[in-house]
Amino acid sequence: MDDQAPTPRRPMLRSRRGVIVAVAIVAVVVLAAVLGGNVGSLFRSQSKPLRLHLEPAVAPGGEVTTFTVSVSEAGGTLVLPWMLLPKDDNGTYFDITRNVTLVERTWSFTALVMPARNETGTNMTNLTYVKGERNATAPLERTNGTSPLVSGQGFYDNLAYLTSNYPHRQTGRRDHYAAAAWIEGIFTAQGYESETHHYRWSDRIGGVVGFRPIVPRPLGDILVVTGIKRGEVDDEWIVIGGHFDDAANDRSTGEGAYDDGAGTSLMLEYARALSDIPLRHTVMFAAWGGEEEGLYGSDRWVTNDVPPGVSIKFYLNLDMTGISYPNPSTFHSWVGPDMTEGIDHPVLFGLVENLTYEGMGMPRDLGKVELIESDFGRSDHVSFWHIDTPTVFFIGELDTYPYYHTPDDTLAKMEEFVGGKENLIAGFDVAAWNGMLIVLAVDADDQIHQGEVDYQ
Ligand SMILES: [Zn+2]
Repeated sequence: MDDQAPTPRRPMLRSRRGVIVAVAIVAVVVLAAVLGGNVGSLFRSQSKPLRLHLEPAVAPGGEVTTFTVSVSEAGGTLVLPWMLLPKDDNGTYFDITRNVTLVERTWSFTALVMPARNETGTNMTNLTYVKGERNATAPLERTNGTSPLVSGQGFYDNLAYLTSNYPHRQTGRRDHYAAAAWIEGIFTAQGYESETHHYRWSDRIGGVVGFRPIVPRPLGDILVVTGIKRGEVDDEWIVIGGHFDDAANDRSTGEGAYDDGAGTSLMLEYARALSDIPLRHTVMFAAWGGEEEGLYGSDRWVTNDVPPGVSIKFYLNLDMTGISYPNPSTFHSWVGPDMTEGIDHPVLFGLVENLTYEGMGMPRDLGKVELIESDFGRSDHVSFWHIDTPTVFFIGELDTYPYYHTPDDTLAKMEEFVGGKENLIAGFDVAAWNGMLIVLAVDADDQIHQGEVDYQ
């Protein structure tokens, strides 16, 4: 009998199916909740707007600030603007990362905020958070900081001191020695291993280029002053240098202000600024003598005094630096060597382009990132090419500066040329920051040697 009465079972069957379906739905929801971390997100993800909050939303330019971002949902990508250069997680160097995956809804990070650029009015930017099809933005405003890490003012102060106290720095002259002692004192005060190397003209063996002396070789030693800041990577060094001698065409009035008091002064500003910043690589600051007679000081150091087992990862050359943007004068950033088909150091070249145009916001008509293809480089970077070091050479206005190698190459004439001290400092500021970014990025990046060639 019972076998013939199946009808009552149908509702029961339906009921059990319903339970199974309900359990399955719950299981899917629970699974989604576990995987997605949020039950609601399963239903809301296509419609609910993403939210991004930045704290603080206003930060001083040229200084380091710790930020906190909060987002409504984790798992998306935070896109950092070039206005921020974040510090690496281990705190030892600045990271050039622009995209960060947020694994949690809040994230704190420390970043160097690019200096404010009031003349261009671009002091507002956005952080963007992207998840799937949706994105959210948060504004960031930079203001004028009061204690920037590196500054055109510091660069200027060094140059004013150098040109007024040691104006006649031709190699072998009294001011060459006195300026060297002053520079060594600065390195020592920053806590660096400092040394003044004495080279004789007759010490030169071989030579890096067939360089004809443009002025007679004076008596006395060629001095090279070095200051070394040790990093955890001590077998690949970064070197920052400028020549502190001058051409001394006129023994009574010349200051060698632009050539190359300027490069020396910027190098000293970096020595001050970088003393407080943890860097991965050992960095050496150098003031070269004997440049005007044919790159003698840098050649002697490169030939004789690179410590055994050390390779020079990167050299930043500063010679006639600072008469440039935002003044209507050209900022040349010459990347070299480039002796083969294609770009010899594509990673470095791309990095310098990005930092110059995106990081600094320099316009392409006044900021010229270019390759150097001639070994007749006429400055100390050429010495480094012979130990396979990629180099960047900052040089400002060349062709229209009328005081090159004349007694009128003075700080006063530099100011006059750009229309006043404020304009000169503005140009110094851009140059100082551009080099700062390159040095920090090279310190953080292990790919700079990529594409290197054996150039001899
Ligand atoms: Zn020079």
